[in-house]
Amino acid sequence: MIRQAELRPDGGAIVWQDETITYGELDRVTNRLAAMFRESGCQPGDRIGIAIVKSPAAIICMIAALKADCVYVPIDTESPASRIRKIIESCRPVWIMTDAKGAKRVDDSLMNVAIDNTIQIQIGSVGALPVVGNRLNTLFCFSELENYPDIAIPGTRQPDDAAHILFTSGSTGTPKGVVITHQNVTSFVDWGVNYFGIDETDRVSGHAPLHFDLSTFDIYGTFAAGAELHPVEPEMNLLPQKLAQFIRERQLTQWFSVPSILNYLMKFDVVDDGDFPSLKRLMWCGEVLPVPTLIYFMQKLPLVEFTNLYGPTEATIASSYYTMPACPASETETTPIGVACDGEELSIRNERLETVAPGEIGDLFIGGVGLSPGYWEDLEKTASVFFPGPGGLDTQNRIYKTGDLARLREDGQIEFLGRADTQIKSRGYRIELGEIETALVSLPYLDESAIVAIDTDGFENKVICCAYVVQPELNVSPARIRADLLQLIPQYMLPADWLTFDMLPKNANGKIHRPRLRELFSLKRNPDASKKVKALD
Ligand code: AMP
Repeated sequence: MIRQAELRPDGGAIVWQDETITYGELDRVTNRLAAMFRESGCQPGDRIGIAIVKSPAAIICMIAALKADCVYVPIDTESPASRIRKIIESCRPVWIMTDAKGAKRVDDSLMNVAIDNTIQIQIGSVGALPVVGNRLNTLFCFSELENYPDIAIPGTRQPDDAAHILFTSGSTGTPKGVVITHQNVTSFVDWGVNYFGIDETDRVSGHAPLHFDLSTFDIYGTFAAGAELHPVEPEMNLLPQKLAQFIRERQLTQWFSVPSILNYLMKFDVVDDGDFPSLKRLMWCGEVLPVPTLIYFMQKLPLVEFTNLYGPTEATIASSYYTMPACPASETETTPIGVACDGEELSIRNERLETVAPGEIGDLFIGGVGLSPGYWEDLEKTASVFFPGPGGLDTQNRIYKTGDLARLREDGQIEFLGRADTQIKSRGYRIELGEIETALVSLPYLDESAIVAIDTDGFENKVICCAYVVQPELNVSPARIRADLLQLIPQYMLPADWLTFDMLPKNANGKIHRPRLRELFSLKRNPDASKKVKALD
């Protein structure tokens, strides 16, 4: 981005609503904010939380944090206060940049909690709020930065230093912080910009939320190429017509999103034949794109290049790719996740970590340049999935167990075959079912509960289903449970289907019989089978 500010200071970097921020402006404001961070005592490696709805302000804070040699932590402003609190307690930011919505959430989350040195800054208005507890709560706006120099401050950051921490669902109920280094990001960005041929003429979508790692490529891929980033307002996700109109009117040349959004656009049939004439490439990542959806888009947009990107947050944005050579001939074809991106290594292994033969199903491991150093301050969790690679204990030679199952096809492409655990993707969100179960356990009126996910034809990919046993005299409804859960987990984790039992079904070992629960929910969701379900209950 700094290079682009020199090369094309007047070129558009971020286009947001009716406003364009040029590379020159972006460079100057981020230099000033970085200087302010430094002057306020921020040390290299200090964390800066960013609880701001997707906007240029949020992106400015992220870049300024990096320029000040700090580590930024995007905080989802839609998360319940209790979850935000866990994130703040874990990463102990020295600053939390907020907008009005983020400020409210952060305030609620820190109610009566003493976290030393956390300064909360609210962007967009001027004034001063009283000190709350031992936190300084300040209102601040970008124009106040005029007093700081707009030239770059000298930095000490090294490629292996952390750049940001992305918190993702944790099976024990506490979000896991995935540490991502500068090198992790630049390796993928270099590959991506080169492979896709992104340049200064491109207009790139910014669809993913900023706490998702797809947004990392949107932002830094765009800035590395000197292109224009067009962040998509989150509200648009529920308005397929508007989303399609956005791609059309902004003349986007690149669209990158999770498949659920593409399913949604297809469901409402908002794409015309030969639509989006400027669009050159469409990429998806994060979950399987159903083949009927792919066929819909490939038939409507014959001039667009379609690429499946695969990878977990722990290996930074994506680790493998597959560009469609042609439109699938039938809906039964599967789309592989392809081959490793430059500098990445994908391997399929058995439980002894030996590589399995081509065609055999095994656990998918990733090694190489995208691999995160691990989870923030959690050596145990890190050691449970990041292993010394084959060939010794060299810390550079590590492999990450993705939890995905895969096999190598005869044509050398890797095929994704689902998960080996209870992590799911629903509407593109990564969810550990254990995180929902942990929240359920804390509800005092439930005697037993379990969460299962079942496949759906709808755009959400998986439906989260809750089976529960409630003390009979309490007469608790799913609406009450939902409301209570919403205080503990984000809305996207809320179960969409419910079944109440006198006792949950158990298997021979006395464990909850999850396959049976999945079967019951599938029957329930099929109206023709509802009578059968009553009999089974
Ligand atoms: P996240 O950390 O949110 O990116 O989620 C990573 C997980 O999403 C992977 O381990 C896979 O289970 C799934 N995933 C990511 N990309 C794809 C893809 N292209 N096809 C199928 N599943 C994917």
